[in-house]
Amino acid sequence: MCDHADIPNPRKLRPAERMKIDRQPMPARDAHARVASFDEVNLGLPEQIAMLEAQRCLECKDPKCVTGCPVQIDIPAFVRQIAAGDIAAAAAVLFRDNALPAISGRVCPQEKQCECLCIRCKKGTSVAIGYLERFVADWARGHNHAVPAAPQPTGHKAAIVGAGPAGLTAAGELARRGHAVTIFEALHEAGGVLLYGIPEFRLPKQIVRQEVQRLIDLGVKVECNVIIGRTYTIDELMTEEGFDAVFIANGAGLPVFLGIPGENLKGVYSANEFLTRVNLMQAYLPDSETPVLRPRKAVVIGGGNVAMDAVRTAARLGAERATLVYRRGRTEMPAREEEVHHAEEEGIDFQLLTNPLAILADEKGWVRALKCQRMQLGQADASGRRSPVPVEGSEFEVDCDVVIEAIGTRANPLLTSTTPDLKLNKRGNIEVDADGMTSKPGVFAGGDIVRGAATVILAMGDGKRAAAAIHRYFSSRPVRP
Ligand code: FAD
Ligand code: SF4
Repeated sequence: MCDHADIPNPRKLRPAERMKIDRQPMPARDAHARVASFDEVNLGLPEQIAMLEAQRCLECKDPKCVTGCPVQIDIPAFVRQIAAGDIAAAAAVLFRDNALPAISGRVCPQEKQCECLCIRCKKGTSVAIGYLERFVADWARGHNHAVPAAPQPTGHKAAIVGAGPAGLTAAGELARRGHAVTIFEALHEAGGVLLYGIPEFRLPKQIVRQEVQRLIDLGVKVECNVIIGRTYTIDELMTEEGFDAVFIANGAGLPVFLGIPGENLKGVYSANEFLTRVNLMQAYLPDSETPVLRPRKAVVIGGGNVAMDAVRTAARLGAERATLVYRRGRTEMPAREEEVHHAEEEGIDFQLLTNPLAILADEKGWVRALKCQRMQLGQADASGRRSPVPVEGSEFEVDCDVVIEAIGTRANPLLTSTTPDLKLNKRGNIEVDADGMTSKPGVFAGGDIVRGAATVILAMGDGKRAAAAIHRYFSSRPVRP
């Protein structure tokens, strides 16, 4: 928990003076220029601006922002150190509470978590906590912020299934406590969605690779191209391979399709396949050997972060028109506000209140159009959002040569089907108790495989909590000879 009281208060300004400082904007690449490249859009706050932004924090005695953070970062403590110009001290606080701050500082929905609870929202805008987190993490990357020395080995061995944010966080937390950790990853490189899903222009892959390297420096072993459920089962890990505990963090990467006519036509992708080809397999590079259709007119179906990434990626691959089709309105979109704003700036064509009915083919079986229908908003549904109702006689076609479906993902049954004693819920996600332990003793789970498709920081929170529980589990058990 927070212990920011022990950090000296370098405050120079009175609260009234702090209130007069406006929220500092994030510098970004010019919208027209950036659509032609995969370079990162946001440029990060310069140090002086970060210090100014940090001065806006009122250092609340009861900091509500911390309660909104799934990994409980001591926000006032690191922000105070930035305000004082001691970025190394800010980094020490940040890395203590958050294993992957350069990542969460870029992709977290702060506006729905820490920032929306910031007291400054009551009279204006919140402290830009996410921008400051990113600033400190980037400073630390550029200044070789020291990795803490690994403690004495405890003799306990933990296996982690999946190298996404949940698995990476758990690995770091366990290694810091002296346990031997091996991550088994199905793909040829560690990072999970951070690597194969979120595009380079939002999260440069170099940052993910550096974070993975930091874990390796801490002693974590990463074994890629290993599919748990095929190469080894969970039971084999715990018996033949000698692991005392397993943390399952294999995400929810199985794409869901709408089930409309035409989904098997040439030119239809799931967002996962499209983004994996472009990001992990680097199809965006001119000399890449990975095939991907470079759309002339792309349509992406969905309204979340995945849809926004897919449509902005299609635009960057050279599409003359990239359209987003979403059946509700802008305010109902689950995507982060910043991503929607950036997409609008980049000229993405938003067809809101529009429902896809069928994908239409040309005479050779290639996609030629998406048949749609206009919608209007009716009563709120179970999710609290107003549900879309079709407008009679409003059907129309959107010309396109590529359709990308980004309407969600679910758990892949490959692992769970080979571990019959794991209790699942009716959606196929693994059930866990308050510690993240599954129905199988010594086997823990977290991230999207438990929650369904959620967020990076929730996955990290699960990894952190499960690592603490595994540590307690180890403490009560003898080390195997
Ligand atoms: P994952 O990141 O999915 O990692 C699971 C890993 O397990 C993968 O590497 C996978 O290859 C591996 N694996 C799977 N099965 C096996 C097996 N049998 N054996 C071994 N390894 C296996 N969240 C945000 O907070 N902000 C965003 O801006 C955001 N944007 C997103 C954009 C896209 C395109 C996508 C797809 C998701 C986005 N999300 C975002 C959601 C977020 O990325 C996920 O919630 C998060 O990555 C879940 O983490 P995880 O560790 O549970 O799983
Ligand atoms: Fe600072 Fe806002 Fe947190 Fe208060 S709630 S400590 S003002 S960031």
